[in-house]
Amino acid sequence: MRSTVAHLGLLSAVVAASSTCPPDYPTKPYPTDVCQTLDKQYPETIFYPGSKTYKDENENYWSPTTYSNPACVFVPSNADQVAGAVKVLANSDIKFAVRGGGHMPIRGYANTDGGVLIAFTKMDQIELSEDKSSVSVGPGQKWGSVYNYLELHGLIALGGRVGLVGVPGLLLGGGISFYSNQHGFASDNVVAFEVVLASGKIVTASAEKHSDLFWALKGGGNSFGIVTRFDLATFNSPKVCAGVLQIPSTQRDEFLSTVASFGQEGSKDAKAAVIPSIFMLRLLDATVYTSALFYDGEKCDQPALSNFTALPTLASTYGPTTLAKYVAGTDALIPPGTRQHFQVVSSFATAEALEAVHDIFVSGVKDELWDILDLQASVAFQPITKQFVEAGVKKGGNPQGVDPSKAPYFWMVQNFSWSNEKYDQRIVDVCASITAKINKKLDATGQKAQYQYLNDAGEGQSVFQNYGDGNLAKLKEIRAKYDPARLFTDSLNGGWKVEDA
Ligand SMILES: Cc1cc2nc3c(=O)[nH]c(=O)nc-3n(C[C@H](O)[C@H](O)[C@H](O)COP(=O)(O)OP(=O)(O)OC[C@H]3O[C@@H](n4cnc5c(N)ncnc54)[C@H](O)[C@@H]3O)c2cc1C
Repeated sequence: MRSTVAHLGLLSAVVAASSTCPPDYPTKPYPTDVCQTLDKQYPETIFYPGSKTYKDENENYWSPTTYSNPACVFVPSNADQVAGAVKVLANSDIKFAVRGGGHMPIRGYANTDGGVLIAFTKMDQIELSEDKSSVSVGPGQKWGSVYNYLELHGLIALGGRVGLVGVPGLLLGGGISFYSNQHGFASDNVVAFEVVLASGKIVTASAEKHSDLFWALKGGGNSFGIVTRFDLATFNSPKVCAGVLQIPSTQRDEFLSTVASFGQEGSKDAKAAVIPSIFMLRLLDATVYTSALFYDGEKCDQPALSNFTALPTLASTYGPTTLAKYVAGTDALIPPGTRQHFQVVSSFATAEALEAVHDIFVSGVKDELWDILDLQASVAFQPITKQFVEAGVKKGGNPQGVDPSKAPYFWMVQNFSWSNEKYDQRIVDVCASITAKINKKLDATGQKAQYQYLNDAGEGQSVFQNYGDGNLAKLKEIRAKYDPARLFTDSLNGGWKVEDA
């Protein structure tokens, strides 16, 4: 709860700006009062229902399940404006939300009903450092444009494997990149964060300055501040090999054993990465296996990927390209606008675990959801090698604290996509029941792993409770130090909060 004196101060500013005031006007400003204050302070940054910008911003999300009804949308141009807004919001009890790329498909996690939505659309600055060792990126950027910008210099930064995904959400949850097998989480490769704290102060968090906050932001989510700039390490990677294989469903056993052996052997060549998936398409009454294949280098014929390229395929686009071109090509296949739901499960990297997940998922979808004619359902098996986990530790560590001694793992994300709102609750419930069955089976066979990846988790899944030993307590201490009045815990809508874990 913020101070009443400050509330009254804000109220008098609002009263002075308005011609009438109801007699029973409360001591705390309404959302619209906050919107008006910001409008006055920063002209042309506030948009109300009925305007085109309001509609565009409110629908600038990957999944329509997250479109909401904010009282107004605030579109800042720089960190000072964000800091000014945080001061105004901290002096109210109004809920607010921040949206980067809008790809977290959970209602209320990056949008708000009745509060203020801060949309970073205009804060899309991007600048390479003079020595080209890092790139500074605004929270309005998406990975595809970051890769396009860096491609001109033969460089990459660690980020999403899909270009439409936003920079801020991915980094604040960790971030799995095609380069993670070499360099760890994308967040392990952040050099500095510029952060607006709850006090409205703008600070830089790095290994040297505010190092506790720096550590917390590498996977602690949105409980600490609003990040207004990310400085990312760059790496040389002018040419890569990448593409997607489609494998017929008759290849179940060969596909799963290929995935399992990549999971177990993946550390041997850290330049190789894969995203194997089961893909179920109701419209075609079909199940296919797919795998994105990636190699950081020009020579595409690589032993690390040869088990995959030897599988019989329906189609393959694997070949020489650049990271920017590859993600642009796959982005075209992932249009926004269909309703989406995610949940995560984690296992050790064994064939037994993969088979359990495969069979429970496929039969669950067929038995419970196959009447939904435009349903697409998938599970992506993300191999997490020991080398991946250790790379993060070498770079200073992160709050995830994944146990390298038990690696390798599979972090798997179930994704459901459909168009009719009437199926929303049913799909959420079936997905939860599939997750529960998978976890029960993995637990019973000693295959269940602890860590649950924040960026792929569904609402209600435990994230911080499964971080490495002692890290949740440390995150809570850092949260209390930088946001003693709990602004980002109580008033910043949605996301996983360390204090709630
Ligand atoms: C198609 C698709 C592909 C994906 N691919 C990958 C992948 O390759 N690797 C991977 O690791 N993950 C991937 N993800 C998951 C992705 O990382 C998360 O969904 C992530 O949250 C998206 O970031 P965003 O900025 O788009 O999210 P948003 O929905 O805008 O925000 C997500 C969360 O971040 C918070 N937030 C946003 N901006 C800020 C800020 N500036 N300061 C503080 N908090 C902020 C919000 O409060 C919200 O809770 C993918 C998701 C999708 C839908």
